[in-house]
Amino acid sequence: MSRFLTVIPVTDAVATVIGISPAMVAERIPLESSGGRILAGEVTADTDIPGFDRSIVDGYAVRAADTAGAGDAIPALLQCTGRIAMGRSEPAAATGPGTCTYIPTGGVLPAGANAVVMVEYTEETGDTVLVKKAVSHGENVLLHDEDFRKGETVFSAGRRISPQDAGVLAACGCAAVTVAKRPVVGIISTGNELVPVTAVPGPGQVRDANASMLAAYLTEYGCIPRLYGIIADERHAFETILARAVPECDVVLLSGGSSKDDRDMTAAIIATMGEVLVHGIAIAPGKPTIIGRIQGKPVFGLPGHPASAFVVLIAIVRPLIDRMLGIEQPLQRTVRATLAINIPSQRGREEYVRVIVENGIATPLFGKSGLLNTLIRSNGLVRIPAGAEGLEEGSAVEVILW
Ligand code: AMP
Ligand code: MG
Repeated sequence: MSRFLTVIPVTDAVATVIGISPAMVAERIPLESSGGRILAGEVTADTDIPGFDRSIVDGYAVRAADTAGAGDAIPALLQCTGRIAMGRSEPAAATGPGTCTYIPTGGVLPAGANAVVMVEYTEETGDTVLVKKAVSHGENVLLHDEDFRKGETVFSAGRRISPQDAGVLAACGCAAVTVAKRPVVGIISTGNELVPVTAVPGPGQVRDANASMLAAYLTEYGCIPRLYGIIADERHAFETILARAVPECDVVLLSGGSSKDDRDMTAAIIATMGEVLVHGIAIAPGKPTIIGRIQGKPVFGLPGHPASAFVVLIAIVRPLIDRMLGIEQPLQRTVRATLAINIPSQRGREEYVRVIVENGIATPLFGKSGLLNTLIRSNGLVRIPAGAEGLEEGSAVEVILW
């Protein structure tokens, strides 16, 4: 093996990742536990919604023509023939010429009526209703198929179910939904210097930040993280943990030990147990990244620095997760902003710079590599494409929000 990494472009690395992505597996789950899950198929309306013409206000169902010219000074006088009850269709309550019917919000529009006058513009005196405002045909009425038409596509596959979506799915009669199974992602932290969160680090030691960070991100994104703890930079430990994790998970992420240092054996071990497809990506931070495969499962070696590991997670691992969840467009929130100062960058590698976005201005946070504080002081990343030599002050950028 050579002393240096053979670096490939981000686009090639992502193509490799897509190429080894396990197929999406679908499962059926109850609607009430579907929040945040990804729809695996399209959903169509099983009936017209709302299914009947209904009033959208409390008022009187009328024939619009009977209210023509009505106003405060000259109200239209209509005969009230009855009241509509909620949840029932009342053919008897038909509205004929010169008559009206009291109707609550959501009530079934009686036959003959074609509009509703809000109760605020009426006055009831005995059986007579004074209508003080003209309404046009269809006013304050929701038509039977105005929300969704039977057979219409309401949701396409790949959509993350929001709380609003769950409400609409319920209205469409989906008591159960078909969603992508959550990929199980194994997380292994490597390094002789690492200690668990519960320990007080001694000299030379640091707490394992990556496992919690990766797990939190993956949970939010729709995966099931499976933590395997910390292992020492020692061949046997690597082999033992991988032999356990690979069969139990759909994807395995190792962090630390991914560069070409004598101690860094992740690549060597992945090569022994499976194959290394990529070792080195033209990305900053995150160059010493490994993409490999063991027993057909994708295995990543992420750089140890938490900020680098996070950038690689977003830029390289996320496309795989998107694939496994059947997401067509990456679910990343972005905002347009103006760059506050120049950002220099080396042509040929894709750079991710942490920024603070405020009032549409993106200010880069430059800091020594290895700092944790820039991860929480920043609220997003600006991506500088490999072809650019940097970005100039005042240029429009798209910020990937954390
Ligand atoms: P490595 O990629 O193993 O060369 O590690 C690069 C740097 O990241 C070193 O300073 C490590 O101490 C640090 N590091 C590696 N893994 C972790 C982790 N899980 N949590 C926090 N820092 C880490
Ligand atoms: Mg290490």
